[in-house]
Amino acid sequence: MPATVGDVLKCLRKMSDVIHENKEYLTELDSAIGDADHGTNMDRGFQAIAKKLPELVDKDIGDILKTCGMTLITTVGGASGPLYGTAFLQAGAALAGKQELEPGDLLVAGEAALKGVLMRGKATLGDKTMVDALTPAIAALKEALVTGAKATEALDKTSMAAETGMKGTIPIQARKGRASYLGERSIGHQDPGATSTFLLIRTMAETAHEIGF
Ligand code: ADP
Ligand code: MG
Repeated sequence: MPATVGDVLKCLRKMSDVIHENKEYLTELDSAIGDADHGTNMDRGFQAIAKKLPELVDKDIGDILKTCGMTLITTVGGASGPLYGTAFLQAGAALAGKQELEPGDLLVAGEAALKGVLMRGKATLGDKTMVDALTPAIAALKEALVTGAKATEALDKTSMAAETGMKGTIPIQARKGRASYLGERSIGHQDPGATSTFLLIRTMAETAHEIGF
């Protein structure tokens, strides 16, 4: 069954809960190679989104995601605010006017989100950023959907690829963002932004199972 506006709002609510539950964990990761604020930054943004959700029930999916993007840009701060904000804005633009989503819409939105993050942050794969989780995730989503997988199955693969990408940030040196100031000392730590990206994608996969997408 296609995903409805209500399903998208449910997913966003779950995302805000998951970020809240992982606030300390994300901040702890950022304290090792950054400035110990990624959890609080993300939680501020996703709590602001959660507050707006009741006003969004009459909006289309494109507008809902664009509102999330603007909210993240204005509340999260740091490097991650504009990056996640851009991701949601671009996903929203790609889904403009939609009242329902088919599995293929996930890919359209995911590719737009990734493109937005790459353009805004200028990171490439292997720089030890959220891009290292997002890039393989979207590639896995594409591969699964072109081979005819159901949305739940495709999103499970997307989530697994994001997790592998996230773990892949541990042994490498940061070349973008605050962690890059540490040079070789950034090696051996998992990137906080790649971790929040994985958590958000896993939440999408879990929501898909729950709603029978
Ligand atoms: P700040 O680094 O400004 O304190 P956050 O702590 O909220 O911001 O977010 C840090 C995360 O942002 C990093 O873990 C990394 O994943 C991501 N990041 C930083 N710079 C870039 C970039 N240029 N492109 C993509 N992601 C980036
Ligand atoms: Mg930080």
